[in-house]
Amino acid sequence: MRAFRYHRPVDVTEAVALLDADPEAAYLGGGTNLVDLMKLGVQRPGLLVDVSGLPLDTVEPGPDGGLRIGATTRNSDLAAHPLVRRDYPLLARALLAGASGQLRNMATTAGNLLQHTRCGYFQDTTKACNKREPGAGCAALHGQNRELAILGWSERCVATHPSDLAVALVALDAVVEVREPAGPREVPLTELHRTPGDHPERETTLPRGALITAVRVRPLPFARRSEYLKVRDRAAFAFAAGSVAAALDLDGDVVRDVRLAYGAVAHRPWRAYRAEELLRGRPFTAELAAQAANAELAAARPLRHNGFKVPLIRNITVRALTGLAGSVRP
Ligand SMILES: Cc1cc2nc3c(=O)[nH]c(=O)nc-3n(C[C@H](O)[C@H](O)[C@H](O)COP(=O)(O)OP(=O)(O)OC[C@H]3O[C@@H](n4cnc5c(N)ncnc54)[C@H](O)[C@@H]3O)c2cc1C
Ligand code: SF4
Repeated sequence: MRAFRYHRPVDVTEAVALLDADPEAAYLGGGTNLVDLMKLGVQRPGLLVDVSGLPLDTVEPGPDGGLRIGATTRNSDLAAHPLVRRDYPLLARALLAGASGQLRNMATTAGNLLQHTRCGYFQDTTKACNKREPGAGCAALHGQNRELAILGWSERCVATHPSDLAVALVALDAVVEVREPAGPREVPLTELHRTPGDHPERETTLPRGALITAVRVRPLPFARRSEYLKVRDRAAFAFAAGSVAAALDLDGDVVRDVRLAYGAVAHRPWRAYRAEELLRGRPFTAELAAQAANAELAAARPLRHNGFKVPLIRNITVRALTGLAGSVRP
């Protein structure tokens, strides 16, 4: 592991100035992703700016009645928060479906959203990887790609985004509050992560030095009945093979509104707009849920080893939505 300097800024302004002044600097949240990658030699920052002690760890009602989550809130604290459990159960379920208790005690909200792909070739510096080294090639495209993308990938990169929390937040149209060297800005979470295109090394739309300070979740009363279903190879301590975040609002049998997002299928959390459109305004049935998922997945281009993700995502969509429909009926 390369030697590095370490600094704890006193406030957001100092943190952003430190990143702006030093091209080798990186923010450190809980360190559960960054330090692992440093040990593997995948990331080699010269300065760690530890933002985990900044006073950005409160979860409170937002000005519009939603929720404002400080960027350094630990995943365990967020999952246990009474407002999250009552108003946005899909967030709590997504968090608790991830990693282990010890990791959730360290991991922060911002670090979770900005964690890097778990593509094995990205983590192995002896293998070709355009994300690690632009222009090097992609060992995964014709290699072991069982875990990797079926939607939105390019010939340059077929990696998936690993965060469970991000999938749930994308379903809720959350907004990220960012402090950049030029000043504060807000970014819709649906626009935070990118599809790889020609530049898989650019994982987000944030400029260098941008510090996430909070995530705002809009009020969505029907999210009180929401679900996060995750399928993984082991019962715990494993990333998703596929996941779905869902919230459903029924008027009698008719779908008044719905939110759907998928995890482990693309380089970014995948909001299923096409499926939502097909569901809205129609009487809910399991068949309709399957049709909606099929419409979303029509654009899927499975790789050699991950064709199973198409039926998997369809099946968990049906399971999540029929479960929610059952729970809203009198
Ligand atoms: C064995 C294992 C299993 C796991 N399983 C899952 C799982 O199933 N689901 C899941 O979602 N996650 C899983 N994780 C990942 C874990 O949740 C992430 O490592 C963690 O959420 C990252 O948060 P952190 O605060 O430790 O980030 P760090 O490692 O500190 O940082 C991650 C990235 O975010 C940047 N960053 C941190 N804070 C900020 C900020 N405020 N503004 C801008 N940039 C910032 C850092 O510079 C770095 O690039 C697993 C991890 C391990 C090791
Ligand atoms: S899929 Fe992306 S991260 Fe994985 S080896 Fe290819 S370029 Fe690298």
